[in-house]
Amino acid sequence: MTATMSPVIEAPRPVWRASVLTLFPEMFPGPLGISLAGEALKRGDWSLDAHDIRDHGLGRHRSVDDTPAGGGPGMVLRADVLAAAIDAVCAGDARPRLLMSPRGRPLAQARVRALAEGPGAVIVCGRFEGVDERVIAGRGLEEVSIGDYVLSGGEPAAMVVIDACVRLLPGVMGHDASGAEESFESGLLEYPHYTRPRVWEGREIPEVLLSGNHGAVARWRREEAERITRARRPDLMRG
Ligand code: SAH
Repeated sequence: MTATMSPVIEAPRPVWRASVLTLFPEMFPGPLGISLAGEALKRGDWSLDAHDIRDHGLGRHRSVDDTPAGGGPGMVLRADVLAAAIDAVCAGDARPRLLMSPRGRPLAQARVRALAEGPGAVIVCGRFEGVDERVIAGRGLEEVSIGDYVLSGGEPAAMVVIDACVRLLPGVMGHDASGAEESFESGLLEYPHYTRPRVWEGREIPEVLLSGNHGAVARWRREEAERITRARRPDLMRG
């Protein structure tokens, strides 16, 4: 008996979905609605929903924060309010839950790539002094920082995370974004780029790039990437 070949049918990849919890949903999509990310959003290559934490606020004033236990300045987002907001968006959802936080693990391309390969992300934006510590463990939030400085709120940080992920989604940027030569992908910063004109204000394009010798160009780029990385980010050089 001959086996019949059944055609391989690939299940359509579900759309990468970002859900943002914020006190300022009107900030979204903001910059994410423009250019590559925005066009991909309009095409339906990814989706974005922003949820107002205040919808779960308490009392007539829909209060979301309170004074810090132990005293001190500022206000803290309440665990019960934030948990209710999270549960409404993603109870039983397989997506990773991120909390934007200067205390978090610094965002790096490897984490971005893993997030982009997954189903999406739920992203909680802090405000004020931050969030009640108990909700972090209680809802399994992964604290992520975008750098060693303090923003007034997590929204710009959430946009950074989403932008970095979306450009890696299939079809959003084509080959460019997945190329192994980009900064961080090979553990090195990228080599310098040039385009026309050949001479600008007396500065010339390096001769090798005009030589048509692909091997020499590749070697030069590799050496430049290493030189720049050694000078600027020796921490990235392995071995
Ligand atoms: N008191 C906090 C800072 C609060 S800033 C501290 O000293 O750590 C208010 C909110 O902005 C934070 O809850 C967080 O969501 C966001 N935020 C600020 N800086 C950030 C950074 N570097 N990366 C990611 N999120 C940040």
